[in-house]
Formats: sequence, structure tokens, C-alpha cells
Amino acid sequence: MRKKIIAGNWKMNKNLEEGLALVSEASNMIKDEYNGNAKIVFIPPFIHLNAIAKMLESYPNQFVGAQNCSNHESGAYTGEISTTMIKSCGVNYVVIGHSERRQYFNEHNQWLAQKIDACLKHQLSPIYCCGETLEEREANKHFEVIEKQIGEALFHLHADAMLQVVVAYEPVWAIGTGKTASTAQAQEVHAFIRGIIANKYGKEVADQITIQYGGSVKPENAAELFSAPDIDGALIGGAALQSRSFTDIVKAME
Ligand code: PEP
Repeated sequence: MRKKIIAGNWKMNKNLEEGLALVSEASNMIKDEYNGNAKIVFIPPFIHLNAIAKMLESYPNQFVGAQNCSNHESGAYTGEISTTMIKSCGVNYVVIGHSERRQYFNEHNQWLAQKIDACLKHQLSPIYCCGETLEEREANKHFEVIEKQIGEALFHLHADAMLQVVVAYEPVWAIGTGKTASTAQAQEVHAFIRGIIANKYGKEVADQITIQYGGSVKPENAAELFSAPDIDGALIGGAALQSRSFTDIVKAME
């Protein structure tokens, strides 16, 4: 059975004190109230990673992720953070290619492919984000866009490396807008993504890849989204900033 993963991306929110308080509350609520076996990932700003990883050492199913990484190993890249540094903080996951990074920092698929390689080199699982804009969906180009995003950043990998990757389908029009893709719309794209992975690597590999949905996931819509056969969890923005709503989304996953 493939892994279910619920991850909360805090983006540029929470100072250290606020971040530690959030993890302390949410990790305990999840431990006390959640009986399922989904993996939980907290994705705070870089500067909180080490402290949060330490806090979660005694919570077997709860992990820490970074929001980004450099494609370089080390050197004169002021302001960048490498995957070796991230790994040394006790981190397990790294978000790669979030639409905000594509949009505001011009991250393109070829560059993202290098970041994927940098993660895998240091045993970090990339959470690779893909998804179309509203304009692309309205022009019925969403499958084409997603196929290109997945193909150009991931399909240079061998099958064993591909198995370390988590894919997050995040329609840009649903991120931070309160507009969620319907369960049918999300399932259709998730099945499409699994299909193109199967065409490249075979069904056995495709069936093991976790594909998360992201875009205005809330406690009210999580259970229905999670009932779809190809939706294996969520990448959550706004609702991950409060322990109660994050825990309630986790509890919606069996
Ligand atoms: C995200 O940033 O990945 C996201 C899905 O945000 P939100 O849940 O706020 O739409």
C-alpha cells in the first residue's frame, strides 16, 4: 500500500516562538487524536528546521520538511541553503517547485530537475509540485502543462530514485484562494499523473508513488478529497497555520 502523507507548508509565516508553539500543540493533538498511519510533515521556514526536528524526535510518524533548497552542493551562492545543510538539521522532505517559487523566483523545470537530484543525493524525499494556472485550465491545457512539468523535472530519474519522490498536484487557481478543485477534478488529474508515471516506469512503480492534492484543503473538504482513489494526502498552506485545523485535516485521513 502506498504511503499517505499530510504536509503543512507554512510559507513565510511564524517566528521561532510561534512556530515551536504550533508544532508542540499540533504534534500532541495528532498523537492523542489520530489513529491512522499517514506520515505528517511540518514544513516551516529554514531557520526553524533544526529546533522542530529535535522536538519531533520522539514522534515516530511526524517529520520535518524544507520549503526549498539550492541546486548547488556548496560555494559562493549567498543566501542559498544546500541539501547537505538541510539534511544535517534532521530533515526528511523538501518541497520542490512550489508554484510561488515558479511564479516569483522564475524556477523552471530544468532547474527543478537539478534540485530533485540534489535532494536524492542526500536521501531527502522531494515533494515535487505541479499544477496549472486558471488560464491554462480554461484553455484546456492542464494535462499538457502537467505532463511537461513532470516529464522535464522527473523523468531523467531511474525507477528506484523515482520511488523516493512525492508528487503534489496543486492547481494554481486553488492555492490560497479558498477555491478547491472538486474531488472529481482532482481525481482526474491524479489518475492522469499516475498514468504518465506508469507509461514511463510501469504500473508497479506508479502504484507506489504518493500523489498529494494541494489547494485550499480545509477540515470541511478533506475527507471527501481523501476518499478519491488516487489522492494520497495533502499539501496544506493556510489551514496548516493553526494546530486545530491542521489536526482535523490529518484526522480526515484514514
Ligand atoms: C500551498 O501553498 O501549497 C497551498 C496549498 O496553500 P493553501 O492550502 O493555502 O491553498
